[in-house]
Amino acid sequence: MTGWKKKIDPELSVLLKKAAKCQVEFGMSDMIIDCHNIAKKRRELVFKGSVKRKVMATATVTATYSSLEEHNRAICDCQKCSLGQTRTKFVYGVGSPKAGVMFIGEAPGRTEDLQGEPFVGRAGQLLDKILAAIKFTRENIYIANILKCRPPDNRDPLPDEMEICMPYLKEQIRLIKPDIICALGRISAQALLQTSTPIGKLRKQWHSFEGIPFLITYHPAALLRFPAYKKDTWEDVQMLRAKYDELMNKK
Ligand code: URA
Repeated sequence: MTGWKKKIDPELSVLLKKAAKCQVEFGMSDMIIDCHNIAKKRRELVFKGSVKRKVMATATVTATYSSLEEHNRAICDCQKCSLGQTRTKFVYGVGSPKAGVMFIGEAPGRTEDLQGEPFVGRAGQLLDKILAAIKFTRENIYIANILKCRPPDNRDPLPDEMEICMPYLKEQIRLIKPDIICALGRISAQALLQTSTPIGKLRKQWHSFEGIPFLITYHPAALLRFPAYKKDTWEDVQMLRAKYDELMNKK
């Protein structure tokens, strides 16, 4: 095991090594332990049989892969949280593995759960129109969600579920290396930025997600409920397109 990003105390180190060992036993070989925020999480780390999985999740122990297909194959039977029991299909993501722009929603809904593809319901049809307005298609961008499995009755994702699933999204981002990431909606934005700031205050400015320019706009489902947000969304996506063109001109 290599690659500690921060110095941590010996007790915590033992816990993390045990967590990593669990992952190895699950059949993963190449381990990375991301110790980001670990001090804050330390109180949650109680290594007893029944909470093993929580320890693994809070330690965000992840393996790395060489392609999206390989990654999807490795994780598509995931049972790390209870959503594994209730999903119909695991919804990994869709689009170009070389996408310059990655859009990230919150979680699959009913249609996505049935079809195994993100944003294929009504909100997805609106997303396609938004993409077309800025001259993108599903084939040249990438779409994923914070959660890969549908929460029952489309309830909001729970913090634990997002924490458990986040390493999957981070691995997708690592493999795709997008030039820009765009969060669709409050839940995705707040989860990625680890903030509780309201979406209204997060929009209209460039953030950074692990060094990648990161923009936030409204979720297409919110636009279906509140069409008045369409104007703001239009401005957001124009901002995105302008940044994308600027970055491409520099390449
Ligand atoms: N809403 C989301 O956030 N993601 C989907 O895939 C569908 C609806």
